Formats: sequence, structure tokens, C-alpha cells
Amino acid sequence: MEIKINFNVPPYTGKEMEYMKEAVRNQKICGDGPFTRKCSQWIEAQTKTARCLLTPSCTQATELAALLLDIKEGDEVILPSYTFVSTADAFVLRGAKAVFVDIRPDTMNIDETLIEDAITDKTRAIAPVHYAGVGCEMDAIMEIAGKHHLAVVEDAAQGIMASYKGKALGTFGEFGCFSFHETKNLSMGEGGALLIRDENYIEDAEIIREKGTDRSKYHRGQVDKYRWQNYGSSYLPSDMNAAYLYAQLELAEEITKARMDRWNQYREMLLPLAEEGRIELPYIPSYCSHNAHMFYIKTKDLEERSALDAFLKGKGILPASHYVPLHSAPAGLKFGRFHGEDKYTTKESERLLRLPLYYELTADETEYVAEQVKTFYRQET
Ligand SMILES: *Cc1c(COP(=O)(O)O)cnc(C)c1O
Repeated sequence: MEIKINFNVPPYTGKEMEYMKEAVRNQKICGDGPFTRKCSQWIEAQTKTARCLLTPSCTQATELAALLLDIKEGDEVILPSYTFVSTADAFVLRGAKAVFVDIRPDTMNIDETLIEDAITDKTRAIAPVHYAGVGCEMDAIMEIAGKHHLAVVEDAAQGIMASYKGKALGTFGEFGCFSFHETKNLSMGEGGALLIRDENYIEDAEIIREKGTDRSKYHRGQVDKYRWQNYGSSYLPSDMNAAYLYAQLELAEEITKARMDRWNQYREMLLPLAEEGRIELPYIPSYCSHNAHMFYIKTKDLEERSALDAFLKGKGILPASHYVPLHSAPAGLKFGRFHGEDKYTTKESERLLRLPLYYELTADETEYVAEQVKTFYRQET
């Protein structure tokens, strides 16, 4: 069967190439050029955070956060097992242990009521993941962190243009990490950003990101030479990549709205199946404003999901399952442990199937996908 509808098509708005050419003409294609500055300022204004530093990926933004928090061998970080590997990798690279807790079945986010019990005298940070751009229970998480003097690093890879109680995702914790990978709502191919809430971290962040030097200050004319100040690495994307992203940031509202229209269309068309109890649809708490990053359905079990997946593929549609829980993966066994009972992580992950959703997906294509899902369930009865 020929593929008619891919799972994802990277967003492209039309101005990307023009801006990339401009970056080349500027003769400033390394990091922290004019487009990088524009992107950072745009994100700072949109999220109302103290500072945004563009990075080559969300993974590296999280690594930068772990370096800034001086996470060391023997430390522990609490996170969900139902997430992408990067949330754990960044801390494990520093020698920390990943302590996984269960998720809530409604949002697939970390269950905030289980965090406190997982805290030990080695715990240094909590890393909530805003799955599908739907905010975790940040009030409760920040309260626990405050009480136990823990840092919070938000994996907001999927969270740009989304908020919790009116505040942008990624701006609650000490650090927030965005991704601009081609699978995300706004993209530069590979890319990310570190959001810094507390101004006291800005100078260190700039230094670690610039190979341990104060080159950022030098560029602003604040020092006459730049020198090696601290350990560091290179966490700067090229200005050509930033130029590509800037074209999409300018149209961020439009891109989000287009995705939201398709998301709402899926929801409306599949609601009858949910009301009959055949499938479950995503749940969005009333105080969360999401960004239509993902539309998923939950089937009865793994067997039904596999059958639906095969059925849709037979109709030329590419759906996608999602994370294999980290605690069950080889590296998860080595670098982590699950605290408490795995009541929902494995079970819910096995039921979840993501439907195609991207900027250029049309209403007709969305209707076709939803119709095929309905056809599958009509067959089943
Ligand atoms: C995409 C994603 C990442 C990784 O982002 P990169 O920019 O590819 O490093 C991390 N965490 C989550 C939850 C993601 O969805």
C-alpha cells in the first residue's frame, strides 16, 4: 500500500530559505549571530522568561541545565519513565541515577502525588515532562521542590506556545528546555533552547555554552579579551539554523492554530467512539492551554492497538506508538530504578497510538484518517 498520509511532515512556511540566505549574506553564520539573537528575544518575550539561550538540541539544553546545577555522581533525579531518553541522558551523563515514578493515566504526565515519596537525601532535581504540550501539575511540583530544596528542570521539548494557568511551559523551574527538532511544532531541523528563570544563572550558562569562556561578554563589549573561565562545551547552533527557525517563530500563532484546527477536528470526529467507550481521547485540564503537539487515542490494549496500527497502514496512513518506558530499557535498568508501583506507565503506553498531525495536514486528510479509525471499530463489532 502506498503511503498517503505520513505521520509527520516537518513544518515549512516559505520564508526559511530567504532568511538562511540573509544569514549567509550577513557573513555571520556561526553561533550567536543576528538570527540567533532574534530567536532568543522572540522566545523571551513570548514566554516572559529572564533569558533564552538557543542550543543545538533540547537534549543539549538539558545537558546544560545539568551542568549548571552541578549534578554529580551519586545524585538522584526524579522523572517519569514514560519519556524520551534525553530527559534521563542529560543527568545520567553527569553520573546521576534516574529515579522513575509513575504517570497519571489522564495526561500521561508524571504523577505529582508520587514525587515526594521518591525523594531521598541524594535527590537533587525533579524533571517533569510536559507530554503532548499539556502542562504537568506545576503548582504541586514547585511546592514539593521548594519544601525539599530541589531544582526543577522542565522537559518542555513539546511545549512551545503552551501554558499552565496562563504561564508558559518551561518557565516554572530553574530551567526549561524546548526542542526545535523536525518532529516538533516549530523547527530548525535540529535545535533547542534553554530557558533560564533565575538571572543568577545567566552568566554561568553563557560561559558553559561558549566552551567555558566569557566570549558572550566580549561580544557585548563588556570585556576586552575573552578567557577560559570554567569547564564548558559548545552548545551553540549555527545562525543559518536560527534563520530557519525565525521564519517559523514569526508564524508561530498561525502554525499553532492550523494544528489546533486539525486536533479539534480529530476530537470531534472521534468523540462518538469515545462516548461508546471504545477508545479514549486526550484529556486537557481546564487550566492548561495546549499547543496541539499531538493527537493520540488509547485503544483497549496492546493487541487492539497493533490491529488498528496494521489496519491504518493498510489504508496508507502512518500512525505511531510512542515511548518504550525507560525503566524497562537496557540503559534504564543500568542507570535508573523505578520507585513505587508501575501501575500506569507500561499499561497506558501500550494502549497509546498517535495519529498524523502536522502543519500542512489538510481537513480532508484528517477526515480520512478519522473515518478509517471509525471503520476499524465498526468492523470489530
Ligand atoms: C523531542 C524530545 C526531546 C529531544 O529533543 P531534541 O531536540 O531532539 O534533543 C526530549 N524530550 C522530549 C519529551 C521530546 O519530545
